[in-house]
Amino acid sequence: NQDKKKLGIALVGLGGYSTYQLAPALQDTEHCYLAGVVTGTPEKEKIWVNKYNIPKENIYNYDNFDSIKDNKAIDIVYVVLPNSMHADFSIRAARAGKHVICEKPMAMNVEECDAIIDACKKAGVKLGMGYRLHSEPYTQEVKRFVREKTFGNIRYISADAGYYSGSSPGQWRLNRKLSGGGALVNMGVYAIQSLIYGTGENPISVSAQEFSTRPAYFKETDETITAQFQFDSGAFGTIMTSHNVNANRLHAKCERGWFELDPASTYIPLAGRTSNGGLNFKQESQQKLQMDDFAMHILFDAPNLAPGEMGKRDMMIVEAIYKSISEDGKKQA
Ligand code: NDP
Repeated sequence: NQDKKKLGIALVGLGGYSTYQLAPALQDTEHCYLAGVVTGTPEKEKIWVNKYNIPKENIYNYDNFDSIKDNKAIDIVYVVLPNSMHADFSIRAARAGKHVICEKPMAMNVEECDAIIDACKKAGVKLGMGYRLHSEPYTQEVKRFVREKTFGNIRYISADAGYYSGSSPGQWRLNRKLSGGGALVNMGVYAIQSLIYGTGENPISVSAQEFSTRPAYFKETDETITAQFQFDSGAFGTIMTSHNVNANRLHAKCERGWFELDPASTYIPLAGRTSNGGLNFKQESQQKLQMDDFAMHILFDAPNLAPGEMGKRDMMIVEAIYKSISEDGKKQA
């Protein structure tokens, strides 16, 4: 539904993820390319212009960002900012008539997720989440096991997603006003996602606990959270997410055997095994696949593999987990 062969993407926020993953991936994408950037750091402008040959008129800052509406070279705005800025910039991008990719976690709360979804609907633009795993072959194989009941019904599923966060107290991820939470919103969303695509169901109830070994470092944000879920089918599941533990896996016990990804949500390479044997897929940049899938959704009406509603659903679960902790999961020091 567009004349262009390749859609122009503008990355908003030139931090670690844009610099080391998204921009390099956009050099290999088939249906989209790096057309512009939005940055609050003037020194980065020159670096990006030189490195990626970005025309000066496709460079914006946070103040003049809204004038991107007049720039025909930009079709998609990809919001890669601290979590507290996702809603504002996604909504402004939609109002500028641009399609939106919003990084995870979608926003600070469910209300903000609704506001993003509404703004995109009103503007008639597409909205996708930065959930790169949906474009990735190991994850797609897990979804196939679930869809085709390769191992029968899922009885129990567990997922861990965490890393040890050691020595940078100034980072925004430790600042609740910018992050909206700790390990749960940063890494826990991957474990929540694993449980859902690993069962093919949304959970119907949750009970959660929070643990802290370094309260002086994690003053405002959760360090480790465990949560147990029930599903309508009778399946149940657990997650562990942490800024204190290196862990990254999905494991499902089924009626007839089991399947596992370990790691399950790192960039590359993922790995997997099942009770029928090992899995072995070609490793490609997940970000390349993800951005091409979103561009194909816009260009050719291909499915939106990670729509805004999915980001909102995960935020509802995040809120339920925090609610459970505040109600009965007193912090274990
Ligand atoms: P970084 O801290 O590396 O970069 C964030 C960038 O945001 C900064 O470099 C800066 O860019 C801009 N920014 C604007 N205001 C602020 C502020 N007040 N404090 C800090 N930075 C600010 O973060 P990441 O790149 O790691 O993460 C960005 C987003 O991407 C997060 O939402 C995160 O959850 C998500 N992410 C997703 C991943 C995935 O696999 N899907 C992996 C990693 C992150 P500038 O100087 O250009 O203004």
